[in-house]
Amino acid sequence: MKTKIGIPRGLFFYQYYPLWKTFFEELGAEIAVSGHTNRRILDMGVKSCVDEACLPVKVFFGHVLDLADKVDYLFIPRLTSVSRKEYICPKFGGLPDMVRHSLYGLPPIIDTEINLRKSGKNLLNAAMDVGSRLNCDKKAVRRALEKSLRAYREFREQVKKGALPPDIIDKRFPVLKKPSDRILNILVIGHVYNLYDNYINMDMLKKLRNNSVNLITVDMIDGCIIDEKAQTLNKKMFWYFGRKAMGTALHVLDRNDIDGVIYVMSFGCGVDSFISDLVEKKIRRKSDVPFIILTIDEHSGEAGFNTRLEAFLDMVRWRYRHEADVSSHG
Ligand code: SF4
Repeated sequence: MKTKIGIPRGLFFYQYYPLWKTFFEELGAEIAVSGHTNRRILDMGVKSCVDEACLPVKVFFGHVLDLADKVDYLFIPRLTSVSRKEYICPKFGGLPDMVRHSLYGLPPIIDTEINLRKSGKNLLNAAMDVGSRLNCDKKAVRRALEKSLRAYREFREQVKKGALPPDIIDKRFPVLKKPSDRILNILVIGHVYNLYDNYINMDMLKKLRNNSVNLITVDMIDGCIIDEKAQTLNKKMFWYFGRKAMGTALHVLDRNDIDGVIYVMSFGCGVDSFISDLVEKKIRRKSDVPFIILTIDEHSGEAGFNTRLEAFLDMVRWRYRHEADVSSHG
């Protein structure tokens, strides 16, 4: 019987799932993914996680519990860094420990560290570590890693062309409503787990699409452009997400086809609390593109969220029609 590996549908799921899936399946394992986030998963996460944690971490806990009794192993890598000379949020580094010490009766956790801060070679070491836990030989692990990196690159290409990660992963082909109004180009900046988890963001992307919006997410911007722009900052960003968000914000200043920018952040997120502020200052000082920050947490009411989103879109449309008369910043 195949070993069953559980992958929680949270945090970096919408960034790396195609890579992880291909890797484990190439090694002969079976994958089980937790369900889509819903009230039950959120409640399980909120009850079992420390109060101080941000919403995405709480949701992740709920996904772990959703899988716990269905799999042989849980895959919760210790993600220290996913890019050279940068870190991601410390919560990712401590995630396997947080889970292990808060939840009981879990299957063994594959908690291999992934730390690409110094060198990309660490990826092979990490793959070998995972392979050894599943008793796979080194050649098979190398082959599986190469194939999974190919799958990952293909996935990223699709995203760059405008496909949304959940649509690719769930093999959905959304039919867009026939636009009754001019199509607006709205750029959405946020962490993958806030942007692509429809429950966390209260179906924001669907609502935007249904309002004749052409969505551009931070993941659709070419990485080279983001890097080039981020290098113009006075100080190097050492947060992976900070570089992406700031590089994207600076890129917006060069474009004249972006009608509005939405920054989605989690309440209680240390990284977002100052990156959102820097992004806002850059955009507001150097352009007149309408900008809004939408903050989400487990208490966010959908009605209030919808009102802010709709008001923002109305303002963007009004500006388009009467550009000279409507301020973008209130
Ligand atoms: S970056 Fe922010 S939202 Fe993401 S895990 Fe860290 S604290 Fe939570």
